[in-house]
Amino acid sequence: MATYIQRLGLVLKNYSDGLGHLVFTNVCLHCNRELVREERYLCWICWQALERTYFELQKGPTKLDQLFWSRVKIEHTCALYFYGKGTVSQSLIRALKYDFKAPLGLYLGEHMAKVLDAHPIKNIDGIIPVPIHPKKKFARGYNQSELLARGLAKAWGVPVLKSLVRKRKNTASQTTNDRFGRWENVQNIFFATAQTGQYQHILIVDDVITTGATLESLANAIKAADPQVQISLLSFAFTK
Ligand SMILES: [Zn+2]
Repeated sequence: MATYIQRLGLVLKNYSDGLGHLVFTNVCLHCNRELVREERYLCWICWQALERTYFELQKGPTKLDQLFWSRVKIEHTCALYFYGKGTVSQSLIRALKYDFKAPLGLYLGEHMAKVLDAHPIKNIDGIIPVPIHPKKKFARGYNQSELLARGLAKAWGVPVLKSLVRKRKNTASQTTNDRFGRWENVQNIFFATAQTGQYQHILIVDDVITTGATLESLANAIKAADPQVQISLLSFAFTK
């Protein structure tokens, strides 16, 4: 009961913080400068400072494509921005994850859809956001990847397949683990609840890709239920 009340308190705090931000301040999520009317979430300078990967324009395989070689077969991969310590993309992701910025998630999802509107990654039948544990979702109020997925889905007119894959257990924070440790940690963490059926090409959406271990595990869970299904990956950011 105590934990339930604590969680409820956290959710209310998140909601009121978000509301406070909406009503009282409108500052850049990276540099804190006050935004002018046409600026959203970031000031113009910080939007310009977001480092684009331009993976979608690259002819040969990208670093992101190579990350999954010999691990799991992926049709298309893309990430729009590089991610790193102190970068603007880190500020955006942090706001999305911890500051009750649900509209930001939808906004970034729609932004990704716009950039990739002519890319073959658009030719999908459904989108699966990387699931988070229900406890985490409850504490945060939402799943940040699902918000990105909803923004994309709205723009491209495809469904978000929320319940096709579930997370098996709540893993400890992975931020301190080394590369191998992370891989160990996420194996068999997801399971498919049904076959993909009419959805022959599925897009998995995440906020940041670092080792690719989570996505590999998720793709394998989907393929375990339906080996014929095609899978593509899209992330807002990619760790250099
Ligand atoms: Zn700024």
